[in-house]
Amino acid sequence: MYIIDLHCDVLYKIWESKGVLRFNDSTELDANKVRLKRGQVKVQCFAIFIPPELKSEEKFQAALDQIDYFYSQVLENNSDIVHIKNWEDLAYLQPHEIGAILTLEGVDCIGNDLHKLSILFHLGVRSVGLTWNFANLAADGVWERRGAGLTSFGIEIVKFNNKNKVFTDVSHLSEKGFWDVMDLADFPFASHSNSKAICDHPRNLSDEQAKALLKKSGLIHVVYHPPFVTQNNTAYISDLIRHIDHFCSLGGVKQIGIGSDFDGIETHIVDLENASKHQNLINELLKYYAPDQVKGFAGENFLRHLPN
Ligand SMILES: [Zn+2]
Repeated sequence: MYIIDLHCDVLYKIWESKGVLRFNDSTELDANKVRLKRGQVKVQCFAIFIPPELKSEEKFQAALDQIDYFYSQVLENNSDIVHIKNWEDLAYLQPHEIGAILTLEGVDCIGNDLHKLSILFHLGVRSVGLTWNFANLAADGVWERRGAGLTSFGIEIVKFNNKNKVFTDVSHLSEKGFWDVMDLADFPFASHSNSKAICDHPRNLSDEQAKALLKKSGLIHVVYHPPFVTQNNTAYISDLIRHIDHFCSLGGVKQIGIGSDFDGIETHIVDLENASKHQNLINELLKYYAPDQVKGFAGENFLRHLPN
């Protein structure tokens, strides 16, 4: 069953290695090309993530460098990887092809310059999360003690996303920021977040947040990061399924997807160690859910909720 994965940090890892790691087959990459194929990944989102400790004036260049790796390593010489810049293109992917989408995890790199966001959009960015865990000029992240919502600049970014059919990603955003996005965004979603009711972690969504997202036709993509899955030392696929069960109990059966966070996480759920293992989750889900429902979780729910 094919998979659409809304979040991985392959580009960050390649950038961090200064291009030593290779997308096609470096075993250090959880979501290298060989593993994506083995795991039957049909569409992979590639996040641009800039570490907070980098000097502000170096952040935009770092974003461009990660995009350069996306073009030079993911797309070039890989005729079976297709850059998705228009949502309609997803419908034309051939069975042997993988769609690749650029996403942005926090807008720190654009400073206060909307032109820089526009440049990233022209290069292919189709989902924008306002923050990582801390504050920037757009909003506060979930670990920022101030806990503020969107700034005026953050509101401009959401308007930009609405106009350009770009998702506004609420994963990592402060709770107040989340509610601001609910008021403003036409295409909100959570690219990699689990349920707080099942695992009480600040990065997870409360039931009120999950219900608000579902009401706005937003998708929730469950994440494979063990600390967001369970408070036990070891996370199993059955623990992740509890999050899916819970979001379903809130009415989300047609709005749940996958946002693995491969290459952004150092520990893994047992039997979901890298992208070649996605089908282990699918096979387990098929024991409890109808094939059509599982197909929805695996990717079809996403295809039914594209910005338009
Ligand atoms: Zn993240």
